[in-house]
Amino acid sequence: MPDLVKNEAENAWKFRQALLDWYDQNGRDLPWRNHGGDAYRVIVSEMMLVQTTVAAVIPYYHRFLERFPTVTSLANADESDVLKLWEGLGYYRRARHLHALAKAVVTDHQGQFPTDINALLALPGVGRYIAGAVRSFAFDLPAPILEANTIRLIARLIGLQDPVETSSSQKTLWAEATARVDPNRPGSFNQAMMDLGATLCSPREPACLICPVSPHCEAFKTGLTDLIPIKTAKSPLKPGQEFSLIIKRPADNAILLLKRLNHGLWADFWELPTFWVSGADPARRCELGFECPDSNQSIQLVECLMGLDIGPPEGALTKTVKYGVTNHKMTLQVLEAKLLKPHSDELLCPRGWAGAEFVPMPEITGRSISTAQRKALKIPLKS
Ligand code: SF4
Repeated sequence: MPDLVKNEAENAWKFRQALLDWYDQNGRDLPWRNHGGDAYRVIVSEMMLVQTTVAAVIPYYHRFLERFPTVTSLANADESDVLKLWEGLGYYRRARHLHALAKAVVTDHQGQFPTDINALLALPGVGRYIAGAVRSFAFDLPAPILEANTIRLIARLIGLQDPVETSSSQKTLWAEATARVDPNRPGSFNQAMMDLGATLCSPREPACLICPVSPHCEAFKTGLTDLIPIKTAKSPLKPGQEFSLIIKRPADNAILLLKRLNHGLWADFWELPTFWVSGADPARRCELGFECPDSNQSIQLVECLMGLDIGPPEGALTKTVKYGVTNHKMTLQVLEAKLLKPHSDELLCPRGWAGAEFVPMPEITGRSISTAQRKALKIPLKS
């Protein structure tokens, strides 16, 4: 074997050994680990962890597994029950994908997760990272993974001085992730890379002096740990303004809710009549005809669209909710209004919506409602 190749192989072996020794002592004790290669648990946790922290996911994970302990139980569930358990985690498309994935595993794979990377990639919502995570974590088969923590870690290990988001950097990072996987313990290796990235190799002030792989780290050797990973500047969040009306039915204090269509942002979710005022419009309220510069006009709009007789908004603003969605920063103002005449006829559902109902407060908590709308309604958020 030529010396150069021999040295590379030795270095790779030393790197894996140092990392795995550290992981065996310091790996994080996470509830979805150590279940004897349960691919279902891996995929539920990974779908929940996209753009969400471990601490935030843990209570959701336990509730979800309690309600849907197997892939078959999830496949047989109603989508509204799945979304309900996801409420507060955001990125609801992941919940829909997970539900569709469970159905595909049951229908196309007899309830058994495939181990082949292409078969995993063919499942709904599964990209390269999740396919690699399932194959390596659940089945202990070699596959690369790359997510926020491992991107940072590998970029520092190789001293990558280009922005990590570019396609050439991504190609380099995936190639590194592939080449580094330990063929004997691929699952532990990938989890060790994630854990090291999440703990010692933190975004700011990495703990290089106690890092087990510092002898293999270019950023450490060259003093560039503060600079790497290089990221392209994010475009600023787009601000927008909306307001919601809490319209109560005096007889029982039931509240008027509208159901969104089954596609787009918050598909099939219930919400207060909410109007776009200015700036960004991520929920596409203008397209739904809920565009209004002031609250009096919005009352007229609801009266006209739904055949109701509503008094002007009462008193001052009851609440202001600030929330972020996709790349928008929204300010939602909440006003209360009252139904003037009892309404016994069936409610008219405005065009562009899937339903309209007066819903008693105790029942509202059982509906799928976004976090911002829960705050507007003062419904306690789940811990
Ligand atoms: Fe990260 Fe520092 Fe370890 Fe390099 S030496 S991998 S920068 S913690």
